[in-house]
Amino acid sequence: MTRAYVKIQDGCNHFCSYCKIPFARGKSRSRKKENILKEIEKLVEDGFKEVILIGIDLSAYGEDFEEKDFFYFFLIFLYIFFIFRTFT
Ligand code: SF4
Repeated sequence: MTRAYVKIQDGCNHFCSYCKIPFARGKSRSRKKENILKEIEKLVEDGFKEVILIGIDLSAYGEDFEEKDFFYFFLIFLYIFFIFRTFT
């Protein structure tokens, strides 16, 4: 297996009328970057070549952090991380 899935966010704050997710999963919560990167590093060590970041509402990633973060910059950081890991 070469592809791994890493959940970086759970829950949702939108309460769309047809959806049970906010009731079943609760409010949106984001995992800390350090925690995510630790899991990804372990997956890379285990031989995974591709990591898919998943969540219920990825657009809400970081909204629950006191210090605001931007998912876009996080993805750029991950991209650079993997380029570095691939060529070193
Ligand atoms: S998970 Fe999607 S469909 Fe469900 S409440 Fe949130 S935004 Fe709406």
